[in-house]
Amino acid sequence: MTLNIILLGPPGAGKGTQAVRLEDEHGMVQLSTGDMLRAAVKAGTPIGVQAKAVMDAGELVSDEIVSGLIGERLDALGNETSVIFDGYPRTAAQADALDTILSDRGRKLDHVIELLVEEDALVDRITGRFSCGNCGAGYHDRYKLPKVENVCDVCGSQDFKRRPDDNEETVRTRMAEYRAKTAPILPIYEARGIVTRVDGMAPIDQVNDAIEAILAPAG
Ligand code: ADP
Ligand code: AMP
Repeated sequence: MTLNIILLGPPGAGKGTQAVRLEDEHGMVQLSTGDMLRAAVKAGTPIGVQAKAVMDAGELVSDEIVSGLIGERLDALGNETSVIFDGYPRTAAQADALDTILSDRGRKLDHVIELLVEEDALVDRITGRFSCGNCGAGYHDRYKLPKVENVCDVCGSQDFKRRPDDNEETVRTRMAEYRAKTAPILPIYEARGIVTRVDGMAPIDQVNDAIEAILAPAG
């Protein structure tokens, strides 16, 4: 059965970390609008050129752009693949667009999983975040170091990078955007009875277990 789930939570809550675990364990596909936009910036596409300054400031890229990216990506996947929305939707307009995008493709939302993490911990997580420059595997200066110092666990690369927007000032803007525009979409999904909350302060494995328990009854 095809699953469609949203991982919802502020920047640094652990959405990407958990999405990759679900990809590995269930063959689901992570649809991260942040990753798609960073790829567009890197490739210098018109969308990337437009998005760069907005992302560097920690503000939100336009609803039309991100919903367009999600629709295109879903079409490329076909209808049989289970997906995890990570960092999308982030506004009420995006939540509305997602409903249409899904129903047009014969899909429906199964779960919205909210990761709860305290704000101080978020700043700590984001300012310590880095990733492999070759394969994108995610790490943290204190909570998830590579097993061998400076060598990626997944691909063996020694090239690591940090996101330009992962600084304390931008993080505060991103959190304010989350509180003002993203948290208010939760009631839409609560009214449908599909929201489950997970303690995102727990260690990575325990958060994964809690998410697995939510997905288990659906297969
Ligand atoms: P998001 O995708 O929600 O912005 P990430 O998954 O990139 O967040 O996680 C942010 C940082 O926090 C990463 O460096 C990651 O390794 C670390 N991290 C993720 N989950 C946990 C956790 N449960 N405990 C401690 N650190 C975590
Ligand atoms: P993320 O990787 O989810 O932390 O996103 C990084 C940045 O990309 C955000 O701070 C926004 O500028 C932009 N972005 C990602 N997803 C969206 C979205 N759904 N809506 C608007 N902007 C987004």
